[in-house]
Order: sequence, then structure tokens, then C-alpha cells
Amino acid sequence: MINGAAADPALKGRPAHRLVDEAAPQLRVTDLAATRGDGVFETVGVFEGRPANLSPHLERLQRSARMLDLPELDLEVIAQAVDAAITAHLPVPELLVKIVVSRGVEGQQRPTAWVYADAASSYASARAGLRVAALDRGIPTTAPQTSPWLLAGAKSLSYAINMAGLREAARRGADEVLFVSSDGYALEGPTSTLLVKQDDCFVSTPVEAGVLPGTSLGAIETMVEGEGMTLERELLTPQQVADSDGAWLLSSVRLACPITHLDDQELTVDRELTERMNAAIANRG
Ligand code: PLP
Repeated sequence: MINGAAADPALKGRPAHRLVDEAAPQLRVTDLAATRGDGVFETVGVFEGRPANLSPHLERLQRSARMLDLPELDLEVIAQAVDAAITAHLPVPELLVKIVVSRGVEGQQRPTAWVYADAASSYASARAGLRVAALDRGIPTTAPQTSPWLLAGAKSLSYAINMAGLREAARRGADEVLFVSSDGYALEGPTSTLLVKQDDCFVSTPVEAGVLPGTSLGAIETMVEGEGMTLERELLTPQQVADSDGAWLLSSVRLACPITHLDDQELTVDRELTERMNAAIANRG
């Protein structure tokens, strides 16, 4: 648990974070994380004990907190708690660390924050390839400008809609979702960023269209530019994705998962390029 995730004079003199017994109760039932999903989070991939892209994750946590009008976060304290959580876990090749900041207990005006580390599941099947269903998200790409209260592009705790999308994909015989805007553009997955290859150019969805700025995409951008290619932000239709030279859903823990099918259309899969992308995201390059 983190004390002082927000500058709070009431917490002066207390340790910045404390390790707690994971089996002991920690969260009040009136915490707004539990009652309203009112807060923000990050999931960081940890490979051979080293967190990948930690600074971009912490910066994005701050960005999400600002979008929800939460108090400014002390990222140094959170980084120390991340280190402590990794150190406290048994060493395993792949861990995930989750950082959660909620608006706090109802009526107390003080955020609650905690960090935990957990062994990652096996993502071998997803990394081999995904059958993806295109699902209408029901909001246009202009929503961030017209309706910022929808929090499009914030990593808020309210992921029930994203999880419902995954269940709908399963009903359609797919493993994953590609959300599509109501004006017809491919956006992102419920927990992943879309990356598309067209010849020697890579394309991903502009953040202004209401998607989360992916930390994995940032790592891919560095890799692609290092290889003399480019990464553009451009709106693509699902048909353009299906007709591309390869498409992936990127995320910090599952890494780059190639899309093998978008609905009933089959896509090209480049395994060697996928391996290099995985190394780039996991900072194993
Ligand atoms: N888009 C959404 C909605 C997400 O929840 C996530 C991660 O969970 C991503 C994209 C991918 O972000 P990252 O590469 O930083 O894991």
C-alpha cells in the first residue's frame, strides 16, 4: 500500500509505502475503486526482474489521473513501491506489476494507492496469433473533443465494457477484439494498441481519436525508427487493416500478438518481425 500517492500533509512522517500481507484485507468496502470504478491503473511487464518502460507507464498514470481530476501523483513514491513489489516476489521470468490509484474512501478526499506483483500467465497462444472480432465501440473519433467526460483514452478502472467486449468476441469464436469507432475507424483492443504494417511503413491509431497512448507502441516506434522505417498515426478502416501487410495488438505483458484473422479475413503474419517487436517491448533488444 502506498502512503502519500498524493501530496497530503496528513501523511507526513509516515513511510512512503508499506509491504502488507497479500492475504490480509486492505481495501475498505466504501473505497471508490470498489463502488464506482473511480480511479486509474497501469500494468507493467517485468522481464527477468526488470520492469519494461516504467517511466512511460508512470507518466501515463499521471496523465490518466489528470484526466479524472485526481490529485497530482508522487511518481517517485510509486516507483519505489514498484521496486519493492518486484523484490518481494519470487523470481520468475515474467511478472506483471499493477499500480492502482483510486479516488479513495467515500467522503475522505484522499486517494488510495497500491501496487502488486503477480506471475504472468502463459501468453504463448496469444503471441502465436489472434483471431480478432471487430466490434463497434459506439462512439465517434471526435468524442475526446466533444465529450471529454467519456474519458476516452484514460486508463481508468472502469474496464467492465472492455471485458464485455472480450466475452462478445468469445461468443463469435474469436480471441480478441478490435474496437471500431461509430464513424467507421479501427481504434484499439480492450487492453491493447493496434499496429499495422503497410509496405515499409507502420501505422497506429492517433491518440486524438480516443485511444490510450500505448507504452509498447512507444518501444516499437524506437525500434522501427532505428531500422530506418517510419511509424505514422493515421485512421484506418477495418478493411484497410485486413488488407495490410500485417497487424498486431500490442500490450506490455502479452507483447506483440499478430492478428491472424479479422472477422473472417485472414492476415499475413511475419514471425521474425514479431519476435523482434517482442524483444523491443520487453527491453530485451
Ligand atoms: N489500449 C488499452 C485500452 C489498454 O488497456 C492497453 C493496456 O492495457 C493498451 C492499449 C496497451 O498499452 P501498453 O502497451 O502500454 O500496455
